[in-house]
Amino acid sequence: MATRCVEVALPVPLFRTFTYTVPDGIATPIPVGTRVLVPFRARREIGVCLGEAEPPEGVVLKPLLAVLDQVPALPAALLETGRWIAEWYAAPVGLVMRSMLPAALTTPRTTPSAAKQRRVVILVKELPSLLEREQTFARAKQQRVVYDLLEAQGGKSLLETLRQQADCSAGVITAMAKRGLVEVRDEVLERDPFADRAGVAPPPQPSADQQAVIAEILAGAPGQTFLLHGITGSGKTLVYIEVLRAVLAKPGRTAIVLVPEIALTSQTVDRFRGAFGDDVAVLHSGLSDGERHDAWQALRRGDRRIAVGARSALFAPLERVGVVIVDEEHESSYKQSETPRYHAREAAIVRARAEGAVVVLGSATPSLESWERAERGQSIQLTLPARAGGAQLPSVQVVDMRDIMREALAARAPNAPFDATMGILSPVLSAAIESRLVRGEQSLLLLNRRGYAAYMQCHACGDVQACPHCSISLTYHRVPEALVCHYCQHQAPVPTICAQCGSDALRRRGLGTQQVERLVAERFPDARIARMDVDTTSGKWAHTAILDRVGRGEIDILLGTQMIAKGLDFPNVTLVGVVDADTGLNLPDFRSAERTFQLLSQVAGRAGRGAKGGEVLIQTKMPTHHAVRHALTHDFLSFVHEELGHRRMPTYPPFVSLANVVVSGTEQTATAQAAVAAAHWIQALVTRAALRDIVLVGPAPCPIDRIKDRWRWHLLIKSTRGGAMTRLSRYVAERCPVPKAADLRLVVDRDPVSLL
Ligand code: ADP
Ligand code: ZN
Ligand code: ZN
Repeated sequence: MATRCVEVALPVPLFRTFTYTVPDGIATPIPVGTRVLVPFRARREIGVCLGEAEPPEGVVLKPLLAVLDQVPALPAALLETGRWIAEWYAAPVGLVMRSMLPAALTTPRTTPSAAKQRRVVILVKELPSLLEREQTFARAKQQRVVYDLLEAQGGKSLLETLRQQADCSAGVITAMAKRGLVEVRDEVLERDPFADRAGVAPPPQPSADQQAVIAEILAGAPGQTFLLHGITGSGKTLVYIEVLRAVLAKPGRTAIVLVPEIALTSQTVDRFRGAFGDDVAVLHSGLSDGERHDAWQALRRGDRRIAVGARSALFAPLERVGVVIVDEEHESSYKQSETPRYHAREAAIVRARAEGAVVVLGSATPSLESWERAERGQSIQLTLPARAGGAQLPSVQVVDMRDIMREALAARAPNAPFDATMGILSPVLSAAIESRLVRGEQSLLLLNRRGYAAYMQCHACGDVQACPHCSISLTYHRVPEALVCHYCQHQAPVPTICAQCGSDALRRRGLGTQQVERLVAERFPDARIARMDVDTTSGKWAHTAILDRVGRGEIDILLGTQMIAKGLDFPNVTLVGVVDADTGLNLPDFRSAERTFQLLSQVAGRAGRGAKGGEVLIQTKMPTHHAVRHALTHDFLSFVHEELGHRRMPTYPPFVSLANVVVSGTEQTATAQAAVAAAHWIQALVTRAALRDIVLVGPAPCPIDRIKDRWRWHLLIKSTRGGAMTRLSRYVAERCPVPKAADLRLVVDRDPVSLL
């Protein structure tokens, strides 16, 4: 009889697999990818069978307890993708396998949660003008806070969430209900909000440009990667839909569509559902474990043939995948920030190859990595150079805020106080918003910094209030009033005197979305304004609710962080204003220019999607920066050429492969010492193994050298050869010694998207 042993991947942070014997009564071979229940230490674990194994000599093996699947939970191509992720990103294979399965299938005891009741607060009385609002809440400051928060969240919020955000008692909300301002009621938690949303029918006919691109993709060889560079509004969604239609017409074929974030891309998702109805399973973070399990089963059984979702939808348990679409492929949210630290775009290419599928990476602003790949001939580049349906790209103008400030100061009456709001909304931008309001058109205002003011500074001694747990300044929030750390959510009361010198000359510096909202509300008291940032979208569907209101024409001005730059398609938006283009330009990260260019181009692309055309105004103090300059002319190619020049010396991706080795711990000195020791260890290894083409940079403190009470140091490994990097990363992750002190940890982040 053949060996009755199997190799099992277990969800434990160890770089190895485990061997178990198969007891009598269980048929072998157990198909690869099948889940098995095994004893592990003092507990039971669910693992994935990776194949048969030779029994190791001299070890007493334990028998596995049960085989849990009739059909393997992980189809072959998915398993292969998992093995690649484990190797490329130096992650324990068992942890990778676990992250590819829904939680309900990887934990020995789970009961899928049932529908829950929840208390919600609904805004029932609108107070459109600022004046009315001041009067209503003249003697009820806390009610005003609750009201503003509720309104910012689209008029509906969980009672609990609202109370936490406003930091108020339930009595405040009860009092508001008595005054007829809000209503509190019980609601059955919807099982899946997407189940009730109407799909949107796609445009009837692809244009000639779209048709040409569709034909090329459909003629692609199995495993072929395409980079679809289509300008904003060029109709990439219809291309995806037509490709899916043709692929699914072949018997047994299935498809995967990745989007950056479901809540922000509900419009795109609605279009897929409009085209394919119940064939689509929408996988999103709002699903309960039970719902996720149901959706997974439907895909595994073949009841639904299209998986649409963010990053992890790449792990949909489909077989015979014919096409994988990665929309907005440049988005950094495709990279997972914890183990396994995979990039879904790269993993998509691997899975497609294993499936014999084609991959379409789509973007108006492709990542430099994807661009370089196409230049090297490893993918085929396709272009949609014009907007669909006859729409024109909007004209983009720069507003040099240095001039605005100079003029404002010169025009100031002698001894008149300095008005800091002058630097926020330039006269041109104000006039442009005004004209939209008059014409009944909509405006988007982007400021990529949430909160009210960026930080509090003492004018006497210069001290800036920083988070006690992170090396980052606290952000001033007005509603509710507090200083907040954007990394660890630490909150502190707003001081009235400086903790360092006792002076009362504390000033708020810098600008956040809350302050812009207030200013816009004061300047345009009749406008209906919504703000979209992390603070207004804590509810799972808050984004969608706000966007739906914009779509229905209930909002005149949508103000927000980068969230409002992602794929929105509203034909009545004719103005986009960028309040401050410079917020991300000076970050100590080699991608800061690329990110800024992408953000400016993407948000500009929201304007003028309808027949009325559009206009974009970018306020900046750095109008000559290449990220700003080329966004003005919608000139991706010129930006790429200039930016690639900056990536050569010193070399950065896409010209080298990068791994960020981060050492962190609770003590500053121990962390620094461990980082230095790790660097020596790696250097010695590189020398001993005579690894050429490897360059080590550092160690040095991370730009943000402390997060959540952990000190952070890092070390960059650069390599021109992927293979050497794979072996080295793995060796470092598995073997590099870290002292057992100060809770020291070493993490290898291959192809990092952030170095902060
Ligand atoms: P992208 O994702 O490339 O920015 P979208 O897919 O959102 O662009 O399409 C932009 C707009 O153009 C949408 O409103 C879409 O309905 C419309 N559109 C796309 N293709 C066509 C077409 N062939 N004819 C008419 N309108 C189209
Ligand atoms: Zn001071
Ligand atoms: Zn913090």
